[in-house]
Amino acid sequence: MGKLDGRVAIITGGAQGMGEAHVRRFVTEGAKVALTDLNEERGQKIAEELGENVFYVKHDVTSLSEWKRVVAEVEEHFGDPVTVLVNNAGIIGPVVPTVEFDEEDYLKVVAVNQHSQFYGMKTVIPSMQKAGGGTIVNISSTAGMVSIVGAPNLAYVGSKFASRGMTKHVAVQYGPDNIRVNSVHPGYIKTPMMAAATDADGGGIAAMVPIRRMAEADEVSKLVLFLASEDSSYISGMEHVIDGGLTA
Ligand code: NAD
Repeated sequence: MGKLDGRVAIITGGAQGMGEAHVRRFVTEGAKVALTDLNEERGQKIAEELGENVFYVKHDVTSLSEWKRVVAEVEEHFGDPVTVLVNNAGIIGPVVPTVEFDEEDYLKVVAVNQHSQFYGMKTVIPSMQKAGGGTIVNISSTAGMVSIVGAPNLAYVGSKFASRGMTKHVAVQYGPDNIRVNSVHPGYIKTPMMAAATDADGGGIAAMVPIRRMAEADEVSKLVLFLASEDSSYISGMEHVIDGGLTA
């Protein structure tokens, strides 16, 4: 028996990195997974590889109208309401000091990392209410917990703190509907995003982490699965840091 048997889950940004790892783990736990992403080629390829319980949907998470279309399409496809949402899609934006940060870049980072999580929760909560409950996992960052030297830019930090705050607000509001909402705060995880932000092997990053390595994406998936499943039945509104001791 899987931990997510019969549940319909949406995982945004599922075509690579941590999102892809969550898709792979969730489907082995019995979920019907909607892998949503802008990257059609990779999204389709992963869905074909994993079989009928993974459905790729092209999705720009920064658009509320797209969210409405995507949720309707997913529920039509699987024939059941969405009861798990993992708001994972995110971008870093340019690594620059605040004074040199362009308004356009600021708005883009906030749209992808923060507005998307509002749109996702707004669109999916009515389905969860009808279904009698659900679980939402918002992917933030250690940058949403503490200010770290070398954090990419203020929009990244601001949007990741916002993710944590929105998580708490929605958890309190919709707890009575049996909807649990938690945020996950990864440290340095080996993904294409991190490879692009550093060099291929993470440069000197491992030396800064007490555990002395970066994490594999699937190590984060185990935590996300825990929060999405009944294993965490009494945990809501909390931040869950997974960083090898970086912010200890
Ligand atoms: P990644 O760049 O490897 O993958 C992100 C995916 O999101 C890509 O497939 C991309 O196509 C998709 N995406 C980007 N913009 C989108 C949009 N507008 N609509 C739909 N999909 C979009 O990233 P990752 O490292 O796997 O990060 C996943 C999440 O974890 C992000 O929210 C990131 O901020 C967060 N995070 C990552 C790290 C890390 O070390 N990698 C650390 C802390 C937090």
